[in-house]
Amino acid sequence: MFRRPPILHCRNCGGAVVYRVPDDGDTKPRAVCTLCHTVHYENPLNVVGTVPHLDGRVLLCKRNIEPRWGKWTLPAGFMELDETTAEGAARETDEEAGARIEMQALFSVINVKQVGQVHFFYRARLLSDAFAPGVETIEARLFTEAQIPWDEIAFRTVRDTLRHFFDDQRRGHFGMHHFDIG
Ligand SMILES: [Zn+2]
Repeated sequence: MFRRPPILHCRNCGGAVVYRVPDDGDTKPRAVCTLCHTVHYENPLNVVGTVPHLDGRVLLCKRNIEPRWGKWTLPAGFMELDETTAEGAARETDEEAGARIEMQALFSVINVKQVGQVHFFYRARLLSDAFAPGVETIEARLFTEAQIPWDEIAFRTVRDTLRHFFDDQRRGHFGMHHFDIG
């Protein structure tokens, strides 16, 4: 998704921030306030989502937002501070697809080092094939493996998760897939 812009102002006092290695034995440049000397640590963000499925088909959402407007994705988004990974994944599925689901096991965990993100996808059993897409979604639709628009998938984490899902489905056993991208 996005690479984060640098921090410009201190969250503590609003002062200007510079990137430098702090004096406390740290080894990485950090955003350090020039006035109150607060060090602002930046860490990876969690993206949480689901693989909603029904009778061997998977639910995809056509994005109504940038980046990748008009491309297809699994329901997923940034985890909020007051929720667990599974709660966030269920919330995103409701917001983006209006889908009724039963959450299942964690299915993929993907490090996307280049943009400082970790993506978590849970399998989720659809309780109905009626969807009510939110404002971020143009269309929500079920796809068989043969129908998946592989060249129109918004993100590599989604494409790889879908490939693992259909491979596992064919084998009749769902594993947990942990891998790294870029
Ligand atoms: Zn400050």
